[in-house]
Amino acid sequence: MAKAPVLTPRAEDFPRWYQDIVNKAELADNGPVRGTMVIRPYGYGLWERMQQEMDARIKETGTQNAYFPLLIPRSYLTREAEHVEGFAPELAVVTHGGGKELEEPAVVRPTSETIINEYFSKWIQSYRDLPLLINQWANVVRWELRPRLFLRTSEFLWQEGHTAHATYEEARDFAARIHRDVYGDFLRNVLATDFMSGRKTARERFAGAINTLTLESMMGDGKALQMVTSHELGQNFARAFHTRYLAKDGRQELVWQTSWGSTTRMIGALVMTHGDDDGLRVPPRLAPIQVVVLAIKGDETVLATVRETGDRLRAAGLRVHVDDRTGIPFGRRAVDWELKGVPVRVEIGPRDLEHGTVMLSRRIPGGKEPVPVDALAGMLPGILEEDQALLLEQSRERRESRTADVSTFEEAVEAATAGCWARIPWAVLGEDGEAGLAEHAVTVRCLVAEDGSVPDADDAPGNVAVVARAY
Ligand code: AMP
Repeated sequence: MAKAPVLTPRAEDFPRWYQDIVNKAELADNGPVRGTMVIRPYGYGLWERMQQEMDARIKETGTQNAYFPLLIPRSYLTREAEHVEGFAPELAVVTHGGGKELEEPAVVRPTSETIINEYFSKWIQSYRDLPLLINQWANVVRWELRPRLFLRTSEFLWQEGHTAHATYEEARDFAARIHRDVYGDFLRNVLATDFMSGRKTARERFAGAINTLTLESMMGDGKALQMVTSHELGQNFARAFHTRYLAKDGRQELVWQTSWGSTTRMIGALVMTHGDDDGLRVPPRLAPIQVVVLAIKGDETVLATVRETGDRLRAAGLRVHVDDRTGIPFGRRAVDWELKGVPVRVEIGPRDLEHGTVMLSRRIPGGKEPVPVDALAGMLPGILEEDQALLLEQSRERRESRTADVSTFEEAVEAATAGCWARIPWAVLGEDGEAGLAEHAVTVRCLVAEDGSVPDADDAPGNVAVVARAY
């Protein structure tokens, strides 16, 4: 069956291809206020799976969920100088409530360090109250000038972790643990997405942090996307909000803090990492629907087998959807599931049943084959794991084949403008070189040590800057 060209081909126009998938796979629509987004059920299902996987990993670290208000007194923001300077241009401010001008305007949270510290300073009295490990699932607003669905919206959904510790070392180690065991593990083992793990330069650091750890992934067009960040806040917010504790030696000390976030941007990353000209390809461990069982025709034996098969696969622990909408042409439904990137389709029609088989169609490597009905439940878990591994491998292969070691500023710019990542010694590039990249719309994504680990200082000997165009 010849397929209708549903999407703009990736090679022709990558941004349009991205928009097409977001539309046609029914992930999201633009909201009425510029930069806002309506997340449709299939897109939200992806987010819910991300939340489940992330939340379990966050809780493994001993962190508990809580909830803080959306509105923050404006004066809180101004207490930490760098923080307010960084966020001021992106703030949405509420000046009126109940028809009256407010005595003090409230900002819609762009992030919650300030309001959380206000409460940490009440809750933390002594070293016995530390570490305090809090996470919240929430929405935030940052008035983005160049919005793009999922990747950069004015309102987005995220989790933000906020912790307080007794020492610098404990806070540093906790940020590193989140970076590695929560974010790194989730991206690699669930999102099947390869990344570079590094630290941000001073220029790119979070406003108010002393260090920002980042995971940067390469999208299908070679551009970089900052996937997640984990910050060491030092004592900056503790100083501004007087978040102190009574130490064992009887002295009052400021706490050391971290904060870390991951957002609905990861849905955009999923599209741009694994999508192809037929649509999305969702890694099986993430997929809200791992297997769709389709009735080709509406006859009763077919429908009964389709439902039974659905039940059997569900009982085998798979996430299954039964598509028995035989009023809609089969070809259209097949294309739709392909667009949505469901890893496996099991297609059942009268002819298959005569042979005691079903058609197994695999979205990720592609291809179709008939398999005995009874063999399905046994085969699928292994197939899904194979697909999961293949996606990670393809993502790693893309980054490796499109990353070049260079030794001059000009070569770095040339590589980045050609859709590659350039690795250049930080000692060669330096802060002046970094500033000069801006006019080429190129940035330092992160600094990594020679051996690929995360350096503990910007100017550590042997540091390499990873330079690229980015979303
Ligand atoms: P930050 O609090 O600035 O470190 O942001 C945390 C994470 O949010 C970043 O690592 C980005 O991946 C993501 N992010 C930042 N701005 C947006 C946005 N406008 N829309 C979606 N995700 C965002």
